[in-house]
Amino acid sequence: MHHVIVAHALLTNPATALARLVPVSRARYNSQQQFSTMRAMLLDVPRRPLRAADVPRPEPGPGQVLIAVNACGVCRTDLHIFDAELANPKLPLVLGHEIVGTVVATGPGAGRFARGERVGVPWLGWSCGECRYCRTARENLCDRARFTGYHIDGGYAEYAAVDARFAFQLPGEYADAAAAPLLCAGLIGYRSLVAASDAERLGLYGFGAAAHIVAQLARHQGRRVFAFTRAGDTDAQRFALELGAVWAGASDDRPPEPLDAAIIFAPVGSLVPMALRTVAKGGTVVCAGIHMSEIPAFPYDLLWGERVVRSVANLTRKDGEEFLALAPKAPVRTEIESYPLEHANEALGALRAGRVRGAAVLKI
Ligand SMILES: [Zn+2]
Ligand SMILES: [Zn+2]
Repeated sequence: MHHVIVAHALLTNPATALARLVPVSRARYNSQQQFSTMRAMLLDVPRRPLRAADVPRPEPGPGQVLIAVNACGVCRTDLHIFDAELANPKLPLVLGHEIVGTVVATGPGAGRFARGERVGVPWLGWSCGECRYCRTARENLCDRARFTGYHIDGGYAEYAAVDARFAFQLPGEYADAAAAPLLCAGLIGYRSLVAASDAERLGLYGFGAAAHIVAQLARHQGRRVFAFTRAGDTDAQRFALELGAVWAGASDDRPPEPLDAAIIFAPVGSLVPMALRTVAKGGTVVCAGIHMSEIPAFPYDLLWGERVVRSVANLTRKDGEEFLALAPKAPVRTEIESYPLEHANEALGALRAGRVRGAAVLKI
């Protein structure tokens, strides 16, 4: 089972980026065909391995574009959905909310992108635009939000139909698979980093896809990164140091000096009091995951001194625009392990086991 291709996801040259703007006609796409099918990996019921299937290819509805998926990142959230830790997914479901694809058809009123354009599709697939959150620039908290690869079929498939208003243009510097992790690991990481405000000494708990991007951004901004991993995970600690962390250790280690903020990416509630112990007065602990095991009770002393514990939920389109402009400037380089679509279960297994260096990406 050696289908993992480790790639330092390098920046592509401008000629390649330009080539992507030229309209493509894929042999497997024919707009005249009314009953075309596509390959997809389906979640029929939670906790049962994804099933490879031929399913009807979606048609772009009003405001939607149909994209041929080129790459799709595999996120920790996909495992939470798989494990039924997030309630009421669409079923059967195509997981995947870090989609890089090429527009092959546009629905009525979806004029934002033209055929042949490359787009990125994130977790936020739709928001109502009317609720008190949407009206106050907090669409990430929309009461009726719908999420890609959860309420809407995602990118573990050859095609996806998505609302064009929530898709992004992608910086041309990144190859498709290299760009995929930007769309959740990068975006949520960026929002978490903003929530850490101007912290100079920044702790990152869990050094996976998001942390490996945030570490580079943080360093670019002149912060110092302290990386916490599972005890004994020297590979992850070395990886963190390679990406510019000034210190790396186990999650229950004390860093050499107090921190100004910490971001917890691992879905482990016991890290909250541990992180509070490492932050100085006035420091913030940001919980960046969508799900976390129970947080154990802890003495008030850990919170005293105006320490703050907060979560970061989802993303706004503004987050995406800001981050995607910043990433190539830093520059953020994503490190990926790629899998063919049919090996999505293996990719999820590797992620669960903590065996992925950087981000896992399906290449379609
Ligand atoms: Zn809303
Ligand atoms: Zn995600």
